[in-house]
Amino acid sequence: MKSRREFTILKIFILLPRNKEDPENAYLSVMKLLIISLLLLAIHCSVSLAQIINDQPLSERITWYSIDATLDPDEKKVYGSMDAYWINNSDDVVPDVQMHLYMNAFRSNKTTFLRRPGSSTLRWQQGEGCIDIKSFSDRQGKDLLGNVQYIRPDDGNVYDSTVIRVMLPDPVSPGDTFRVKISFETRLPLISWRTGYNDDFFFVAQWFPKFGVYESEGMRYAVKGAWNCHQFHKESEFYSNHSLYEVSITLPAEYVAGSCGMLMGETLNGEGTKTISYRAEDIVDFAWTAWPGYAVYKDTWKHVNITLLIPPERSNQAERQFRAVKYALEYFDENAGPYPWPYLTIADPPLKGIGAGGMEYTTLFTTISSYLMPAFILTPEQVTVHEFGHAYFMGIIASNEFEEPWLDEGINSFWEQRIMDHYYGPGYGFINHPLLKIPGKAQSRISYVNSPLRQIVSNAEYSWNYPQKTYAMMSYQKASVIMQTLMGIVGEETINEIFREYYRLWAFRHPSGRDFINVVNDVVSRIHGNTFGTDMNWFFDQTIYGTGICDYQVTGITNSKNPHPGDITVLPDSSGSDVSVHGPMYTSTAHIHRAGSVIMPVDVLIHFSDGSEITEKWDGKDRYRDFTYSGNSKIERVKVDPGLKLRMDVNFVNNSKAIDRNKVPVKRLISKLNTFIQFYLSFILL
Ligand SMILES: [Zn+2]
Repeated sequence: MKSRREFTILKIFILLPRNKEDPENAYLSVMKLLIISLLLLAIHCSVSLAQIINDQPLSERITWYSIDATLDPDEKKVYGSMDAYWINNSDDVVPDVQMHLYMNAFRSNKTTFLRRPGSSTLRWQQGEGCIDIKSFSDRQGKDLLGNVQYIRPDDGNVYDSTVIRVMLPDPVSPGDTFRVKISFETRLPLISWRTGYNDDFFFVAQWFPKFGVYESEGMRYAVKGAWNCHQFHKESEFYSNHSLYEVSITLPAEYVAGSCGMLMGETLNGEGTKTISYRAEDIVDFAWTAWPGYAVYKDTWKHVNITLLIPPERSNQAERQFRAVKYALEYFDENAGPYPWPYLTIADPPLKGIGAGGMEYTTLFTTISSYLMPAFILTPEQVTVHEFGHAYFMGIIASNEFEEPWLDEGINSFWEQRIMDHYYGPGYGFINHPLLKIPGKAQSRISYVNSPLRQIVSNAEYSWNYPQKTYAMMSYQKASVIMQTLMGIVGEETINEIFREYYRLWAFRHPSGRDFINVVNDVVSRIHGNTFGTDMNWFFDQTIYGTGICDYQVTGITNSKNPHPGDITVLPDSSGSDVSVHGPMYTSTAHIHRAGSVIMPVDVLIHFSDGSEITEKWDGKDRYRDFTYSGNSKIERVKVDPGLKLRMDVNFVNNSKAIDRNKVPVKRLISKLNTFIQFYLSFILL
């Protein structure tokens, strides 16, 4: 999702025998089961495991969904019939399944989502935005609807019905598959929080019952096996297994549709409707959009067929969108890992559907453009690059966005800004106008540095626990600035190696923040040895898991003229004669202060009046540090962190100091004013 700053998803189960057989019937039973199993396996292989999109499965695929959906554009409803399974790949006997019913977040204004302060701005209407389970049965057709109960694992809010728990008549043993058939009815909301309708525009997301993630012991932070299935919160995103999706959508024939899936076929049904079939492999969610007004543009990048759905009046923006997404595809491919799917759909909603803009669904994302947007404002490109980036962070590397949003939004914002500055200009990846240039990376820093709430909480919070108005600043911007700072310390190529390794180890899995940090530790020590210590935990303990600020400052420069710099007699030289040499004219000191609690290694640049320079490597640990020199030239200016690598430093203005050589008061004043303006701009924009 894009933060507010721009505008603010067998037909088979394999049921192994668990009940003890009567000995005399054992042989017969085993043979029967073997035949059934082989038969089912054959069906399984022919349907679910068949590779259609990629040659090999990319993920474990422990969940699968087949959904027949019908859109009723007048009633603003989607009628769904779903066949799905979940494979218990843990060592636990699991007594229940838990599923998300995200759409119920809008069922009343007392839901956990809508009672969050600030939700009053959403255009919520009573009776809109809900999902009703009409039937729920297991593989044998046993009706389990009576076993469906709402649970509220996060806050106990009895008005919230976004998570269901279904106790199963037969627990799911390790290796077994639970298969379910559900019919449901989803009433879409007036477009709100990236899903819903407006007039004849539809963006259908978070619309079907979806399995939570069963985390076995040792997975992420799980100390024992349990479902990870959080309620839908306003300030939170999602967490899902990589799945197979086979979705067919029936809708009026005049609608133009796009989805997370690859188009498998389209049939006209008569009576003005058509059915579109999609398939998706190894993605974490399935969303779709439909609107009669979309114009369709197509482009390609290497193996990827890109489809852009855009209002016809914005056709002049298509080229900007294609260029941006191809830059992002290229940059991720070179510096992290391949984009594995052969297709990608970009939906650029019309104005009436703008509430759906700026959201990611891996192989489908939404952007926000405007035909009025001047070329020097790169917001449309930025949104596109950002939302595409989630194909990596969230899609391929599927962290738990509920619990560790920084792993997704923060890291993705960091990549977005790198890509913008790389392709559109290092100093102007956000705004590129002759009179105003703002780099992409500046946006995170502006938000973090200028937030009065920057120290009230660390990034070790579940997304909905961030105190008011700090979720976006902490999850997106501070986390991005932390990553920028890490890059400043270890270097850009090391950062790329970290992400190549992260991709190699964790693609199509579910890493935790600690897993990411372990990758950082391994790669940094491989490349840099002990240059930064035995590991980088000191960095993350202070930044992600800390609330301190980083602020190094130059407090002063002292140049003392030696009282007797003249002739000083020293030891005799090799000839035995005493030699008189000139003593140093000056004793000069640069006074540095660590004003924040965060300790980082930092360079200190000392510039002398004769033009010479010394760069001191300081571990940054002491509260105060003096660098003293004796020589015939004075210290003229001092810069702590001259490369401004420590982008967490909350105040770049105090990073420099110079002695004042202007004796004329007016000149001095102008000089100071000029210096102030430059420092102010660097403070705001860098
Ligand atoms: Zn995002």
